[in-house]
Amino acid sequence: MSSCKAVICAGSFDPPTNGHINIIERALRIFDKVIVAVAINTRKAPIFTPGERVEMLKEMFKDEPRVEVDSFKGLLVEYAGKRGITTILRGIRNMGDYEYESQMALANKTLYPDIEIIFMMTEGKYAHLSSSIIKEVIAFGGSGCGMIHPVVEKKLREKLRGEL
Ligand code: ADP
Repeated sequence: MSSCKAVICAGSFDPPTNGHINIIERALRIFDKVIVAVAINTRKAPIFTPGERVEMLKEMFKDEPRVEVDSFKGLLVEYAGKRGITTILRGIRNMGDYEYESQMALANKTLYPDIEIIFMMTEGKYAHLSSSIIKEVIAFGGSGCGMIHPVVEKKLREKLRGEL
């Protein structure tokens, strides 16, 4: 019996970093398909529109047919249910992530018992990397080399130029 095993990697991706990419690429070694799902209505005030975030991710994975980039509104578990996918993958960097993610996972499991939320530990070189840190680095003139894709760096510079 062959079945296509898909996983959802969800997040704000505001903007996507090499830490996100690393988790998605490693997920491709385990799953047949990775759906990268951009959250539209996060409580964080995003600097990129959902459309811009989707476009950046599509560009980054344009040569990987097993990655699909989508966006969703509302509860992640409901989105997963609508897509008929029962596995969600989240990246973990530190104890802060673990605490937040474990609470979310338990709440989601209560809402939707069929769902499995799995965690993947970041690689050491990305442990310090977050979307908010990279916004600070670029806003103050630093280089995003090794931290974000050149496409993201260009878009982030354009965006922050307008804001500073
Ligand atoms: P959210 O607002 O849903 O936390 P993020 O875009 O900040 O969205 O993160 C999406 C997912 O990627 C989360 O599971 C987060 O822990 C993970 N993540 C973010 N940065 C990294 C990183 N540097 N290494 C590994 N996982 C990461």
